[in-house]
Amino acid sequence: MAQKTSITVAYGDGIGPEIMDATLRILEAAGAQLEKEVIDIGEKVYTRGVKNGIEPTAWDSLRRTRVFLKAPITTPQGGGYVSLNVTTRKALGMYANVRPCQAYYPFVATTHPQMDLIIIRENEEDLYAGIEYRQTEQVYQCLKIISRPGCEKIIRYAFEYARAYGRKKVTCFSKDNIMKMTDGLFHRVFDEIGTEYPDLQKEHFIIDIGAALVADRPERFDVIVTLNLYGDILSDIAAQVAGSVGMGGSSNIGDHCAMFEAIHGSAPDIAGKGIANPSGLLQGAILMLVHIGQPDVATRVQHAWLRTIEDGIHTGDIYKEGVSRQRVGTMAFADAVIERLGQEPQHFKTVHYDNSQAGTTVQSVKSQTRPRQHKELVGVDIFVDWPEGTAQQFGDIVSQFDAHPLKLLMVSNRGVKVYPDGMPETFCSDQWRCRFMHEQGSGTPIRKEQISHLLMRFHEAGLDTTKLENLYTFDGAPGYSLGQGE
Ligand code: NAD
Repeated sequence: MAQKTSITVAYGDGIGPEIMDATLRILEAAGAQLEKEVIDIGEKVYTRGVKNGIEPTAWDSLRRTRVFLKAPITTPQGGGYVSLNVTTRKALGMYANVRPCQAYYPFVATTHPQMDLIIIRENEEDLYAGIEYRQTEQVYQCLKIISRPGCEKIIRYAFEYARAYGRKKVTCFSKDNIMKMTDGLFHRVFDEIGTEYPDLQKEHFIIDIGAALVADRPERFDVIVTLNLYGDILSDIAAQVAGSVGMGGSSNIGDHCAMFEAIHGSAPDIAGKGIANPSGLLQGAILMLVHIGQPDVATRVQHAWLRTIEDGIHTGDIYKEGVSRQRVGTMAFADAVIERLGQEPQHFKTVHYDNSQAGTTVQSVKSQTRPRQHKELVGVDIFVDWPEGTAQQFGDIVSQFDAHPLKLLMVSNRGVKVYPDGMPETFCSDQWRCRFMHEQGSGTPIRKEQISHLLMRFHEAGLDTTKLENLYTFDGAPGYSLGQGE
């Protein structure tokens, strides 16, 4: 008999315990070789006063097994609680979120019967770094952090995944027409790494039209790779279009640990009634079996599950008169799947997971070997809280500062240039950005002490500087965006 793989299991909240029981019963009947370590997470732990919903001892189990099968949990509203999902993903470096979105037509209603796509979402960076500030009475800020190693990991993962699973095309979504530096990097890295995968088709869409196409013609997509926020929104759209929010599973993959779950939540409205659909968690568990190198069991379970859906044995959430044959509860559904172990689907295509798909992760982060670029300080943006007047009045004050060799190039407000030569129609908030560069022209190096000298002028004038951003060039290329209208 194959050696058992240790996994950490959390039964979660709401419908979690019911669907976990059903899922584990199916896995066991299918011959999965698992050694389970059960941990407590979620509501119980939050109410014991642990703000992130997970006890320190649970981390030990996760570090030991490196594989986490997790039922949904209820996140308490307000009260300074933090999302357990975000905490585990980030603490354990699970950089890739993988979400298959497939139609199960005609057994589950959808307008896109051919839909079968995978969304691979960057999981650690972007606006989800959670770095937010209030800087003035009116202005709040959230930083979008994108790193080259972060882009390289997720994009390489997407290509490796496509190859391992026999997919043909990888599509990148970004908004690099607007965010030329952050999203621009993501797109550029996609183009660079894409050259190493000549066997795969590659394409890029701006996220807005891309998302519209996912809603309208999802069957044209195969594997999609995108940044954290876009991926979060897009994967819910895709699951909804597939008609199967209650039936989707997802994985979170890192170099050290992987977590598998359903995409839906803890459904407190139906908890304890024995009617929840265990399919989402079961799909997560199938991804887990492939990941831990038990592809034959994964294939057996998936075939039996597809056959159950085809046979019209449906839980209430997908039950439809005329299509379904029998409405069942959670455990009866699990029994129906178990009865069909060893059978193949007749309507849906068979699947064949194999060991090449086990633990698909990225071996090396290439940027570590790149030569460092020459970095030069060429200017500074100083942000000021000034609620008192117009752009012209503000610019007239700041442009008078004696800060040789630094010279005011422009003032912008909410990213739009408002001085000199601003438009009277532009709305201005109470936060102003002053861009200073060398009087001999942008690109001329400056020194840090010249910035300190400039800051003194602001303080002498009684202006409240809230933030300072250095402007650098890298091998001569500007490492900052131009102001809109600059
Ligand atoms: P939800 O997904 O729990 O429920 C939305 C609707 O779908 C409900 O009507 C529910 O009954 C139904 N539903 C969900 N799963 C089902 C299933 N397996 N079978 C049948 N019907 C199902 O979303 P929500 O109500 O917005 O969130 C409830 C709680 O879950 C919240 O506390 C939220 O924070 C949490 N949540 C947790 C996770 C997670 O742990 N990964 C994900 C999303 C939401």
